[in-house]
Amino acid sequence: MTTKSTTSRVVIVGAGFGGLSAAKALANTSADVMVIDRNNYHGFWPLLYQVATAGLEPDAIAHPTRAIFSQYANVNFRMATVTNIDFDQKLVLTDNAPVPYDYLILAAGSTTHFFGNDKLAAITYTLKDLSDAELLRQRVLCCFEQASHTPDPQQRRELMTFVLVGGGPTGVELAGALSELFRHVLRNDYPELDVNDARVILIEGLDSLLPVFPQNLGRDAQQRLEHMGVEVRLNVLVTDANERCVTLQDESTIAARTIVWTAGVRGAPLADALDVDKTKGSRVTVTSRLHLPERPAVFVIGDMANLGGYKGDTAHPMLAPVAIQQGEQAAANILAHMQGQPMSSFYYRDLGMMATIGRRAAVLTIAGVQMTGFLAWLGWLIIHLLQLVGFRNKLMVLTNWLYNYLTYDRAARIIVSRE
Ligand SMILES: Cc1cc2nc3c(=O)[nH]c(=O)nc-3n(C[C@H](O)[C@H](O)[C@H](O)COP(=O)(O)OP(=O)(O)OC[C@H]3O[C@@H](n4cnc5c(N)ncnc54)[C@H](O)[C@@H]3O)c2cc1C
Repeated sequence: MTTKSTTSRVVIVGAGFGGLSAAKALANTSADVMVIDRNNYHGFWPLLYQVATAGLEPDAIAHPTRAIFSQYANVNFRMATVTNIDFDQKLVLTDNAPVPYDYLILAAGSTTHFFGNDKLAAITYTLKDLSDAELLRQRVLCCFEQASHTPDPQQRRELMTFVLVGGGPTGVELAGALSELFRHVLRNDYPELDVNDARVILIEGLDSLLPVFPQNLGRDAQQRLEHMGVEVRLNVLVTDANERCVTLQDESTIAARTIVWTAGVRGAPLADALDVDKTKGSRVTVTSRLHLPERPAVFVIGDMANLGGYKGDTAHPMLAPVAIQQGEQAAANILAHMQGQPMSSFYYRDLGMMATIGRRAAVLTIAGVQMTGFLAWLGWLIIHLLQLVGFRNKLMVLTNWLYNYLTYDRAARIIVSRE
């Protein structure tokens, strides 16, 4: 094994948006960088719902991590799951050998939050990584296959009812994409089924969809989804579920065989193992310079970090631009510290938010400018295409989008393993 030039060893845990931006900012510097991730790819999560709804193949939104880092002489990669950190010995503990560090950047992201409801956790589908998206796609296709030879109309309707819990961007995007999959693609694939029986029900506990967006954009998204046949239920909480139905707070039930939970996010499980100050949602508290209060060599960034100061004193949102900018700042602070210079505080350049609703429809807010409909959708397409890592991925996604747009067809609807 060849080792690359050594000065201070910087270990980055996680090759997601935050970890990748930190590694790139440290590339071609005097630091000796080691990136550790449990997967061997960088995942572009904003397009995950398109994998779940047969719009894209998984490898269109994932890029091999080693291919990214092989461009940089001072950055190495190791595939391992980090289990804990020995802060005193300065060791990253993994499911393999421990890795020593001089500086550490923790960027392990987040996971689905079920607020302690283990039953919901066991029964519902989630959308946080590639395996979730593949499972959900397979589930949708298997339900239609099963429905196609189920004689009982009630059971058929249950199989074709999909309840999505959580009206944030993931729930909204998934609802729109599922509705289009049913109406434009599965309608032709399953002539024996009345696809009008297929239901997508989107449930949100607050009084508007996209609660973190301006309210008029939430209303616009709701109208467009309803126009597409999605049933939107606001001000309702899901309290229970089993294999056949969902129970709501008012004790009414919805018969459905598939429930997707997008209603909560918490810091990555790694945060639970760490003996540090964190929120109830397992986000690790950091100083304005992004390091642990008592440990200036240990930085926490992205979804895993709890840093106030966003629009008042709320925590910075779990968004890709926050993670990317924090990765750059953590890297800059490490380089400054290595040179005996003072570190700088993190200030977020707010790049706005966007969510797509379906074909030619999205909502977007950037620098105080709000857009809806076709222009917002075009903006969404261009921004996502530019942000994807790797020319091959960009080409694959663009080709798929053009094909879907022109033919209404979706290529990726193969059931690989039967339920
Ligand atoms: C479905 C979905 C849609 C989204 N859409 C948008 C959007 O449209 N716009 C937007 O701005 N944001 C969006 N986000 C949020 C955005 O993806 C996150 O805010 C961003 O990924 C956070 O970056 P991060 O580096 O903190 O974590 P991540 O990018 O999630 O990276 C974490 C990395 O850590 C690795 N890891 C985790 N635990 C371990 C461990 N114990 N050991 C080793 N490796 C580990 C993971 O494999 C992963 O590679 C979306 C998220 C999801 C799930």
